[in-house]
Amino acid sequence: MNKFEALGFNNLVIKAVTELGFENPTPIQEKVIPVLLQGNTDLVALAQTGTGKTAAFGLPLTHLIDFTSRDTQAVIICPTRELCMQITRDLQSYTKYIDGANIVAIYGGASIDNQSRDIKRGAQIVVATPGRLCDMIDRRRVNFSNVRFAILDEADEMLNMGFKEDLDTILSQTPEEKNTWLFSATMPDEVLRISRNYMENPVEITAGTKNSGNENIEHIYYVVQARDKYAALKRIADSNPDIFAIVFCRTRIETQEIADALIKDGYGADSLHGDLSQQQRDHVMKRYRARSLQMLVATDVAARGIDVNDVTHVINYNLPDEIENYTHRSGRTARAGKTGVSICIINMKEVGKIRIIERIIKKKFVQGTIPTGFEACEKQLFSLVKKIHNVEVNEAAIEAYLPNIYEELKDLTREDIIKRFVSTEFNRFLDYYKNAPDLNAGGRDREQRSTPGITKLFINLGELDSLDSTSMKQYISEVSGVDIASIVSAEIKSSFSFIEVKTEAAEIIQGTFKNARYNNRNVRIESRGASESRSSRGGYEGGGNRRSFGGGERKGGYGGGNRSERGGYKGGSGKSYGDRDRSSRGGYSKSNNENGGGSYERKSYSDREKSYSKSNNSNSEKSYSKSNNESSGGDRKSNFSREKRPRKKF
Ligand code: AMP
Repeated sequence: MNKFEALGFNNLVIKAVTELGFENPTPIQEKVIPVLLQGNTDLVALAQTGTGKTAAFGLPLTHLIDFTSRDTQAVIICPTRELCMQITRDLQSYTKYIDGANIVAIYGGASIDNQSRDIKRGAQIVVATPGRLCDMIDRRRVNFSNVRFAILDEADEMLNMGFKEDLDTILSQTPEEKNTWLFSATMPDEVLRISRNYMENPVEITAGTKNSGNENIEHIYYVVQARDKYAALKRIADSNPDIFAIVFCRTRIETQEIADALIKDGYGADSLHGDLSQQQRDHVMKRYRARSLQMLVATDVAARGIDVNDVTHVINYNLPDEIENYTHRSGRTARAGKTGVSICIINMKEVGKIRIIERIIKKKFVQGTIPTGFEACEKQLFSLVKKIHNVEVNEAAIEAYLPNIYEELKDLTREDIIKRFVSTEFNRFLDYYKNAPDLNAGGRDREQRSTPGITKLFINLGELDSLDSTSMKQYISEVSGVDIASIVSAEIKSSFSFIEVKTEAAEIIQGTFKNARYNNRNVRIESRGASESRSSRGGYEGGGNRRSFGGGERKGGYGGGNRSERGGYKGGSGKSYGDRDRSSRGGYSKSNNENGGGSYERKSYSDREKSYSKSNNSNSEKSYSKSNNESSGGDRKSNFSREKRPRKKF
């Protein structure tokens, strides 16, 4: 039995909600519906968006409204056109089997005459945005004398948007004996004021903790340099191949710039802000809902009331002006019992704001690490491979082509075909990430760097050179002659590492490594400060073609773990490190040449310097710095640097 039956709804409503897939009431519905069904009660409900609150007030209305009458008996007021249309659609679907039910939406940006006509036909429920409704009241186009229920949805948003006076006007136009139901995600004083002024002993219901966020949302923050924000956004997107996100910016211009940059860089993105016409906004929303867009870049105001299920990530490109608005932003994900991630991309100075948000939402953030270029490539590659694995094959359609295709590929092994197929799709992506810098500007490194007596060194060798922490320490100790105990730690990254050494040993190490070579190329060791500034401009993270997935850099396919073939230091012998593994790499180079794919040979450092300075020239990096403020017209700055990315999106 559908659990809504037990709540006492009639069969026509049960049939409609069953078709919508509602079987069990959500927690807010469980609490609110029985109270409202009793009739004659005022209500203040604290509920986040996405919790099922529309049905919590909408279903009781279907029970309490007399649909045989043409009088307007309920008015629902909400902050935005999008939400207004959504609520109207929801109520229309609950009442689709009830004869004579007429629910009309009233909002700005559409013909007021058509809306007046719709109401005249007899709308038992009017769903409206405050501005347009006041306009209709002024023009006497609505008759609220028979209104028995006034519902304020997202009351805090309406007050945030400056609709306080409009709400007062509307509520004073409706009969005093009506019932008022107020829904709000947060309970600031202004909302409480409305409840005091317009309600009598309202029943108070809370779904979740006061002012807290949705439990299903994971909150993550990333600390980056201001100039790396845009690159960080892309890195996050690339590391989540199935991302379906809303990216929040503070100003209209920044919103437009970020969206334009993302589009140019090959992402399915578009912008939503107040400079767009209603028609343009509808068009963007239609594309987003249809998932033609993966990222919707929006201002707070424009994104209000967006009701799209399955948003996987909310990305705060900038923290909201009003910290309380963070709850509204993050509430766009994890709707209807699903899970979601809310991300903040911040600079060091903003960590304090994260702590304030934590107190408001009563949930802890996790500090994330912006994935390396390698990790982003890895995620994309596996997503591609998964897609290939799961693709539906239309046997009949391709059958006729197959014999010639088999013939063309007959000299290739299964492994070769896989590698080439993946490379066709993936090489450009890989190319894009080959010089990708580490974007994290974490506090931890800073603290470590300033530890007295310890110097942090950068070395251009890492995991891909078959070095782990122990063998790295041994290697450095053997080449430099410093005692291994002076090498405090080795943090091994994929293509480089950070070494902490006792300060007195640092100079010796740097001196002895001046002409050091490893696998036939120069080894560079330098103090962390110097390397960091370079890497943040696009230097060390990957060099040359060393991460060519398809070109056969790692024999046996990606993830095969065949690293030993790359040779590398195994420690202990005291021999020259450079020549050690050449023999085992011969065959590899050969297959590589044949493939014409990525080169196994790591480029010399100076080659990589070249590619670094190239990727860093003005073609590939633009700096934007404009200002505008969506809500207040202020002059907040947006500043991000651009790198080109292959236009193809995977
Ligand atoms: P709302 O908070 O009203 O915007 O609802 C969020 C989403 O939850 C909407 O897509 C509703 O269709 C869905 N929903 C509401 N109530 C239920 C329910 N009882 N069972 C399943 N889905 C629901």
